[in-house]
Amino acid sequence: MSEMATAEDLKLMQFCRSLPKIELHAHINACISTSTVRKLVRLKEAKGEPCLDVSKYFVTEHITLDELFQKFKIIHALNTSVESMFLTTYETIREMAADGVRYAELRSTPRADAATGMTKRSYVDAVLAAVRKCEQENVDIVVKLLLSIDRRGSVADAADTVRLATQYAASSGGVVVGVDLSGDPAVNDARVFIPVLREASAAGLKLSLHLAEVVNNEETLELLRCVRVDRIGHGVFLHPEVGGSQAIVDCVRSNRTPIECCLSSNEKCYSLPHLQDHHFVYWHIENKHPCIPCTDGGAIFETSLSREYYLLAEHYGLTRRQLYDISLRSIDHAFTDETTRDALRRRWQLEAPSL
Ligand SMILES: [Zn+2]
Repeated sequence: MSEMATAEDLKLMQFCRSLPKIELHAHINACISTSTVRKLVRLKEAKGEPCLDVSKYFVTEHITLDELFQKFKIIHALNTSVESMFLTTYETIREMAADGVRYAELRSTPRADAATGMTKRSYVDAVLAAVRKCEQENVDIVVKLLLSIDRRGSVADAADTVRLATQYAASSGGVVVGVDLSGDPAVNDARVFIPVLREASAAGLKLSLHLAEVVNNEETLELLRCVRVDRIGHGVFLHPEVGGSQAIVDCVRSNRTPIECCLSSNEKCYSLPHLQDHHFVYWHIENKHPCIPCTDGGAIFETSLSREYYLLAEHYGLTRRQLYDISLRSIDHAFTDETTRDALRRRWQLEAPSL
């Protein structure tokens, strides 16, 4: 909101904050707020590690994908230890809960760091310890975790991630629920991961795949046809009007594959001149296709899930009732059991802010 926000704008933002919400697409390393960056820098200093210049971390208008990945490099340089991963996840969960998010699926690529002794396994353990600490402190949010396959990595790395996810799905008390495919969409052909992704599905893991972040119709269609895609991340270039294809649209529509829509992230990364051009309009408004508003990582894109709902009302004229319905229906697409979904639905009914 600008400084010229009207009283009506402020009331709408207040409504969006009080609306119970579901976050299904948030990379932990994209959720690092200003205050958490400061804490991470202090953590590094306390260990006597060299200071890092983090001034370029904060996003300005319309960053390119390349600049975005540069920002992730700064985060990766800060997040090199189990202590930093714990701190990052803990702060992220608390900040989401404060924003009215009542269920969140975080995602992250397990990383090893020889210098600090962090392994992929201790990385996941640190994230899970933060989830548990928030539970113990009764932070008002249910948190699940997807382990991410970085498409820049090898098939062997991906197989390793699926193996870890399968093991943690059994040992994490239901916190690890699936696998994500992400990373720079301009790098590599994601079709090499099809056998590994099929193995993940066969092991009972849910799959959320970043698809069509750039026009890449052959890759997109083959993944959709060969893998059980439970949700699509972004899907900016699926439909023909933006360079996708009718065959892709037919596939997505016939499977009713939900699309995780991240308006601010897409606006910054794809330099959409107007949010009116966002594919949410094509999919959700024109074709009533299931779309879930998400942030992709609130901090790096200078947004919050509340603000994403605000943008839906501001740009597409959605009513408060429609915002509530979108939030409520997002529960259907969470990678969790029906008991948890029912508990969330009851909660939504109780918490329904005045519409
Ligand atoms: Zn993403």
